[in-house]
Amino acid sequence: MSTPTPNVLIIGGGVAGLTLALEVADHLSVILVNPSQDDRGASRWAQGGIAAVLSPDDDFQAHIHDTLVAGDGLCDEQAVRFTVTHGPAAIQWLIDKGVPFTPDPAPNARYPYHLTREGGHNARRIIHADDATGRAVVDTLLHKVATHPNITQRRDVTILGLLKNSQGHCAGAYGLDDHHQPQTLTAHYTVLATGGASGLYRHTTTPAPSSGEGMVMAAELGADLMNLEFQQFHPTSLYDPEGPAFLISEAVRGEGGYLINEAGERFMPALDERAELAPRDVVARAIDTQIQQGTQGHVWLDIRHLGEKAIRHHFPTILAHCASRGIDITQQPIPVVPAAHYSCGGVVTDCDGATSVPGLYAVGEIACTGLHGANRMASNSLLECLVYARSCAGALRERSLDAWQAPAFAPAQPPTRPLTADEKHLMVQWRHELRATMSQYVSIVRSNAGLTAAYEQLTLLSTRLENLENGQSQEQEECVRLRQALTLARLTVIAALRRRESRGLHYSTDWPSHHAAPAASRLTLEDLTPGTVA
Ligand SMILES: Cc1cc2nc3c(=O)[nH]c(=O)nc-3n(C[C@H](O)[C@H](O)[C@H](O)COP(=O)(O)OP(=O)(O)OC[C@H]3O[C@@H](n4cnc5c(N)ncnc54)[C@H](O)[C@@H]3O)c2cc1C
Repeated sequence: MSTPTPNVLIIGGGVAGLTLALEVADHLSVILVNPSQDDRGASRWAQGGIAAVLSPDDDFQAHIHDTLVAGDGLCDEQAVRFTVTHGPAAIQWLIDKGVPFTPDPAPNARYPYHLTREGGHNARRIIHADDATGRAVVDTLLHKVATHPNITQRRDVTILGLLKNSQGHCAGAYGLDDHHQPQTLTAHYTVLATGGASGLYRHTTTPAPSSGEGMVMAAELGADLMNLEFQQFHPTSLYDPEGPAFLISEAVRGEGGYLINEAGERFMPALDERAELAPRDVVARAIDTQIQQGTQGHVWLDIRHLGEKAIRHHFPTILAHCASRGIDITQQPIPVVPAAHYSCGGVVTDCDGATSVPGLYAVGEIACTGLHGANRMASNSLLECLVYARSCAGALRERSLDAWQAPAFAPAQPPTRPLTADEKHLMVQWRHELRATMSQYVSIVRSNAGLTAAYEQLTLLSTRLENLENGQSQEQEECVRLRQALTLARLTVIAALRRRESRGLHYSTDWPSHHAAPAASRLTLEDLTPGTVA
């Protein structure tokens, strides 16, 4: 007897994928692809918290206004309103699931949980679980997912591409398991929740973030991509060239931390009236300028004046992590640099997470809903994961399962041979070159000449990879993932070249002003056709 086709295939086990799985599983059967051996996901690393209007002293209009200001003219106001107004219910859902948010101990507290402030927010609206919110949310949801009878987790599979049927509908995905055996996972509906594209850069705020692979899979099926040029760099990642990535949360500045340059002076108050709490793009550019002018390769973040008790109370994770790297943050300022952190662009979706490809949905950081525009405001992204995963679940629960057709695509066969040691070495080297190129030319400050050089370098790498792949009869995971990363990198450069202005996270020395009539950028794989680049 054949197994019935599962109703929903969810690819990715971060906050978006886990929320969606739990929200549909009482009604539909779910396969959740959630690779066990990787730390690719960003969710577990989120520290600061989740933004929502929770205090009686806050209101929807204020949160909408702050988000629109941060988005610098490119937010979709309808998406902003949708997200903000669905925020409190999403937080209540997490509370009901048992997420251990930090209570507010103040006797006159206006809300039972502690709310902090972060850059761009003009109210205290960030609910958090100490300084390890992502871990608390993921652990709570993962526990529920693991015990739900209608959810099958595939922790052994990495997805390499999507499948479509003869009507052009997405009908599942294919990939390889831990033993490099091909796996075909068909479903009535497929949801990508594979995260962002910060892995395209050398310095990142998580050890191994996604590099936009899911975005390229969607584009391969014909989905549109939007606003890829808006890559957020977190201003304050721990500076330690020898060690793994570690973020120093914005909440450190929210609670009163100062940024200090090599001369020992605060530099933000002179640049922006919001000082250290200016939006991230402003702070990251200011730090970048200080680094360019200095000799140490970093600036300092100083919270010693908060006192040891407050530091221990608010930042236990950061305190412990820095201590493990030899820095006592109660006694020393923290060395920090900007690092790739969040991708505002991604697969275009509506408020239910639907893409332009029938049967294919995208939720979480992979999606571009229009919420963030040209710049994401701190802590709005976990909110977006929750709100859109829940609305996507609602839409899927309403959909008919009748018209489903099996995919027409023949999935990949096992590789005929593993990559040789030399080929493996090349994969590592080429990925290193990809990241170095993106970091040099497509990061905080850009120019036409730099972007053009980046495009040429990335095209050269793509050609080399293509030549190597031509010698293979079947797909190799490393090759596919690098090809996807190179594809997204080239599309990002095209989007940056076409934006003839500076806006939000995209700053060009050739186009330093705002364009009078800004528009979101939309791209498909067709844009890679030679001659159409800029
Ligand atoms: C250090 C750090 C701190 C942050 N702090 C905050 C914060 O305080 N507040 C906030 O709102 N936002 C924060 N963010 C952003 C936020 O954490 C992310 O935007 C959000 O967690 C993304 O969740 P997601 O579910 O979309 O994707 P992710 O959590 O990135 O999960 C992606 C999942 O997809 C899987 N996957 C990827 N590719 C494949 C593939 N090919 N096959 C199978 N599976 C695949 C991964 O294994 C992973 O399970 C932070 C980000 C970072 C990096």
